[in-house]
Amino acid sequence: MNEAAQPRVRFAPSPTGDLHIGNARTALFNWLFARHTGGAFILRIEDTDRDRTEDVFIANLLEDLRWLSLDWDEGPDRVGACGPYRQSERLDLYREHLARLIEAGWVYPCYCAEAELEAERAALLARRMAPRYLGKCRQLTVADRRRYEREGRRPAYRFRVAEGPVYFTDLIRGEMSFQGEALGDFIVVRSNGIPAYNFACVVDDHLMAISHVIRGEDHLSNTALQCLLYRALEFNPPVFAHHALILAPDRAKLGKRHGAVSVRTFRERGILPQALSNYLAILGSSLTEKQEICTQESLVRDFSLDRTGRGGAVFDEAKLAWLNALYLKRMPLDDLTARILPFLEREGMNVRRLDRRWLMALVEAVRDNCATLADVPRHLNVFFDERHTWNDAARTVLTDDNARRVVRLFRDLLLADLPPDEQVFARSLKALRKQAGVKGRALYLPLRAAVTGATEGPELDRIMAALGWEAVVQRLDRVLRESF
Ligand code: GLU
Repeated sequence: MNEAAQPRVRFAPSPTGDLHIGNARTALFNWLFARHTGGAFILRIEDTDRDRTEDVFIANLLEDLRWLSLDWDEGPDRVGACGPYRQSERLDLYREHLARLIEAGWVYPCYCAEAELEAERAALLARRMAPRYLGKCRQLTVADRRRYEREGRRPAYRFRVAEGPVYFTDLIRGEMSFQGEALGDFIVVRSNGIPAYNFACVVDDHLMAISHVIRGEDHLSNTALQCLLYRALEFNPPVFAHHALILAPDRAKLGKRHGAVSVRTFRERGILPQALSNYLAILGSSLTEKQEICTQESLVRDFSLDRTGRGGAVFDEAKLAWLNALYLKRMPLDDLTARILPFLEREGMNVRRLDRRWLMALVEAVRDNCATLADVPRHLNVFFDERHTWNDAARTVLTDDNARRVVRLFRDLLLADLPPDEQVFARSLKALRKQAGVKGRALYLPLRAAVTGATEGPELDRIMAALGWEAVVQRLDRVLRESF
């Protein structure tokens, strides 16, 4: 790397499924590193696996990254000097580099069929040995090759891995070494002409002038192979930094069997992007409680790779929900209201026709009681007559004569206080306290049950203020008319 140049990092997802939060965390680390150092963040789509790649996954991926506010400087839709940014559009480049490896004797054609490789793998596993290619095609004669070609076999190309150690320095983990014998001769280009991950990755990281490769520690052994390719192609390797992975509570790698793992799922559950990226950024780091709520600016300012932690970080969904609730409480009301709209519509609430200021007042009244955006609709039901009902607990409260007496008195006080102004509820409550001869729960529970239809929920004062005098009087009237 040219030390004077600005860092260039990349996120290189394979679009074979929804964006996993572990990969989102890798993207976030790269983005934070780029923004912290004033470098560039590049998005490269590793879509060489034709069978598993789908356009919809690419579209979703871009959308998820945008949702997390991880903007890229170069990428499939932001062409820079090093494009194209989809590997499927770079096949000529891989072909050229393969030719160089063939020419210099670093790779050899391998004609082994899938079934033969599978049998070799199974045999090694049965002997409790790590599966690797044992080198059957390493020493083929020209005649052997001709024979295979005549049989119609198309070769894959394998890298000739020398015995002995492969070293590299990792920015987070220090000196790393892998034994060449254990790695085995690995495939560089498959028999269908498609490059394997390690090869395409090295060609691209070099041509895209990537200075730092920041990725999960599950790629450490790939890095050893990639170092061999850098040497063979006479490229300077980038700096490598492998961060620890997200673990499930059972300390296994977090996977689908542990429940929600994709950014999309958390989004659908009403987690805010700020909360998710904040959580992913501090997960596994040594930040103290006080520092847990971090703006994106402070994350950028304070980012360092050391902070990402060397040990695996256990994912705690409850903690994410707790952080999300804090964001729900604190974020600007108009932004919050805009984010809530799709959740209300999902519940069949036609809210776009509503006055925005009124809707904001409703959101303000209930936000403290919600941990996720998905919690909001049920709290808002109280404001819509067609959705409002009295639950069993409320009905039980309202069967009591004393409770009904409190409700009646409150209604009468409201009716007597005309014209109603902003203070009407406060005044009537004060008068009610005096005249009803009860206070505390005996006073508030019947009112809450009557007005909201539940015995717990957001603050009653706020709900009444948002409902307004007329709607509250109507609710109380209905309660008095019905026999619960
Ligand atoms: N496509 C690879 C993956 O998603 C990229 C790994 C890398 O960053 O090199 O795991």
